[in-house]
Amino acid sequence: MATVNIRRDVDDKFYRYKMPLLQIKVEGRGNGIKTVIPNMEDIARALNRPPTYPTKFFGCELGAQTSMANDRYIVNGQHTADRLRELLDTFIEKFVLCPSCKNPETELVITGRSGHEDMHRDCKACGRQNGIDMRHKLVAYIIKNPPKKKEKGGKKGKKSGGMTAEANVGGPLVFEKTAAEDGSGGEDDDASPAQTPQDGGVPTKGTDIDNVLGRSDPVLDNPDAAEEVSRKLAKADLNDDDDDEYAGDSPYAILGAWLEENQDASDADIIAKIKEVGIAGKHKVLIEIGHHLFSEEIAKEVEKREPLLQALVTSEKHQKSLLGGIERLLALSPNSDALLAAGTTSKVLMALYQADILDEDLVQNWGTHVSKKYVDKDKSKKVRKSAEAFLKWLEEADDESEEE
Ligand SMILES: [Zn+2]
Repeated sequence: MATVNIRRDVDDKFYRYKMPLLQIKVEGRGNGIKTVIPNMEDIARALNRPPTYPTKFFGCELGAQTSMANDRYIVNGQHTADRLRELLDTFIEKFVLCPSCKNPETELVITGRSGHEDMHRDCKACGRQNGIDMRHKLVAYIIKNPPKKKEKGGKKGKKSGGMTAEANVGGPLVFEKTAAEDGSGGEDDDASPAQTPQDGGVPTKGTDIDNVLGRSDPVLDNPDAAEEVSRKLAKADLNDDDDDEYAGDSPYAILGAWLEENQDASDADIIAKIKEVGIAGKHKVLIEIGHHLFSEEIAKEVEKREPLLQALVTSEKHQKSLLGGIERLLALSPNSDALLAAGTTSKVLMALYQADILDEDLVQNWGTHVSKKYVDKDKSKKVRKSAEAFLKWLEEADDESEEE
């Protein structure tokens, strides 16, 4: 793999500090097009920063949504490798290099009390401490997701790593203002914030989704485009009566039965089916998904379905429905007791939480409120008991971040 000097303005091929050359892969089509950075983790390691920081930086600078779940670092929209490499240079300049000696061996240090934080780069080479531009959008993100302290180890990676829930929490898509609009940053950045696709050198083939599909409807066949659709529909869904019940031949029952029969279906086919029965965007779709798409191996299966769930879960109602569906699956399974005793609920919730499909507050609230909405009270209690390890982990992680 090609490497470049961390300071690309330094020509010296014996320059000590190298990083992999940023690579991109454009996936999806139409509104769902996105730019994946497959080697972001390696780049970030070379820079001694979490991979979420440069990714989020790209999002700030480009006015684009980012997604950083599941070790995949993605900027929505189509961007060229050159553009992202330039932005990476800017990131390195602003958040990595020591301004005094231009050495990249620095650490970001956050000081000050909550709400009044300050941040500086601590240089290992010259020992100086230099501030950073606190007006940059990325700063708020870093404060919320501070660099991992080495002695604490990786146990709670999510807590100190990348909280990237903004792509999934309820409500419409919110594009962040770019740093340029903000009046901060971007001084060596003369291109306009790019929401428009750029030409030149962008490989557009080889996406898994395309390969699986080989069809041409950009909305039907692309989970991301479908996400746009489902977001719009989700809004309409908010006015739905929550408690209406459907008969056996309801679209939900049809979807549930179909899912049960087609647990191996591709994400795109599932989305197509949801559209076909006319309930795209409805939060109750997630009850069927949670209940019927998975088997007793749900703890493993759910990870494979993270992109689908990220696309479908667009509000808190959707999250609650998903939890309800999973609750039904776990409570009604013939091996329910064994599954629950094995802590399956904890494993499933952890995966969903790490993938930013479930919000922390919502899960905590779910965990402390036994409900007979989906299963009987006794079962509901057992399901929550089986989530104990995860809920305890969440709580401890909370206490820990409050101490800091
Ligand atoms: Zn220095």
